[in-house]
Amino acid sequence: MKIYLTLDYELFLGSSTGSVENCLMKPMKNLCEVADKYGVKFTLFVDATYLLALKKHLYNPSLQMDYQKIKEHLLCLKDSGHSLQLHIHPHWLYANYDGEKWITIPNHYRLSQLETEKAIQIIIQSKQLLEEIIQQDVHAFRAGGFSIQPFELYCKLFKDLGIKIDSSVLHGCHYESNNQQYGNNMSGLGISVFFVKTESLSRDIKPKEHK
Ligand SMILES: [Zn+2]
Repeated sequence: MKIYLTLDYELFLGSSTGSVENCLMKPMKNLCEVADKYGVKFTLFVDATYLLALKKHLYNPSLQMDYQKIKEHLLCLKDSGHSLQLHIHPHWLYANYDGEKWITIPNHYRLSQLETEKAIQIIIQSKQLLEEIIQQDVHAFRAGGFSIQPFELYCKLFKDLGIKIDSSVLHGCHYESNNQQYGNNMSGLGISVFFVKTESLSRDIKPKEHK
């Protein structure tokens, strides 16, 4: 059995976003120190919508520096053998920088809070930017807060984009809030959740019943 250790490469998601140094650089350094001892590599789901937001604000010297740091950090992680894949937190597209800190509004936290066309554009643009930065194609995806449903809206897009694995999966869990929704048997949210590959597992594995 192969085990993949996956984690999201992202700033904090609440009103206080934290810094690149404290949310990304330092924790990864600590994690890599331990992982290196055991020859372990991570799959990092990089919040590329945050990178889009950064790119939009490059006129600000401090954000320009953040962008540059992250670019170098990602390349370094890639060169160290970690896998970099696509993660999306759509609310970043609506974030603003007040000169000192990010102002984020959670109204667009999950993909289903956006028009489908807009959500598709965000996925496409985020993927393009991440691939441009890491100079490598990505083939796996994880939706912010695991909230991708209804999944069938994105099946064709994933095929077209060469995304073969959807990791928006939290097996055995069901959760519903303003910002996050996942699980099956949720009215109006599509039919099932537990897709790992875009098609094959959806046929092979029947969604479990959850209480
Ligand atoms: Zn995340």
